[in-house]
Amino acid sequence: MVANQIQASGGMWLNLNGTEILIDPGPGSIVQSTKRNLQADKLTAIILSHRHLDHSGDVNIMAEAMTQGGFKPHGRIFLPADALGPEPVVFSYLKEYIDGIEVLQEGKSYQINHISFTTPVRHVHTVETYGLKFRVGSYEFSYIADTRYFDKLIENYRSELIIINVVFVENHFKVDHLAVGDVEKIISGIKPKVAILTHYGMQLWKAHPWEVAEQLTQKTGIQVVAARDGMQYDLGDLG
Ligand SMILES: [Zn+2]
Repeated sequence: MVANQIQASGGMWLNLNGTEILIDPGPGSIVQSTKRNLQADKLTAIILSHRHLDHSGDVNIMAEAMTQGGFKPHGRIFLPADALGPEPVVFSYLKEYIDGIEVLQEGKSYQINHISFTTPVRHVHTVETYGLKFRVGSYEFSYIADTRYFDKLIENYRSELIIINVVFVENHFKVDHLAVGDVEKIISGIKPKVAILTHYGMQLWKAHPWEVAEQLTQKTGIQVVAARDGMQYDLGDLG
């Protein structure tokens, strides 16, 4: 999917009461965001759930753009420790442009202006990976990033909105990613008001994510939505 850009891999752009945060800027993030009039210099933070290329490919250009090439220094980058390891995904010169790099750790909470988020549990994935649970005002929502299924996902991401990275239709036991059956378990366990699916693999794309979402809605009684490029979701719609 990423190699062919059948769906874009630019990540998710949050605007929470005016604080703008970019999550997982994969390849094309700069192209997709400028095309949609999202201005990188308005970002306050960039968060990487993990170092894999489809989540971090454009982190350097997005950090450059956030700081207008260093002329408007500000903002922070949040990432797991191994993203800064022997093969860092962030160029070292960018550290002079930003306010700092924060290392994500299991069970910690972080603050960006009036927004707090936690990284409640380390995921089962080939590199160090965390999902995110945000709190802003009275709203709570979770981003369940790449992972193999494990039961603790349910207790750790309880919130009224969940965004889930789902790759497969059928379980693929050799690969640490969620399949549709796992997602059904998670949605039934958490019972959010809304679940948004994203990060489809080719197999899932061929099965039509919007049809998969409809089937999950029927099975779970929860509103399940298949994300598409450029889709916007308003937290106010949660009621
Ligand atoms: Zn990954």
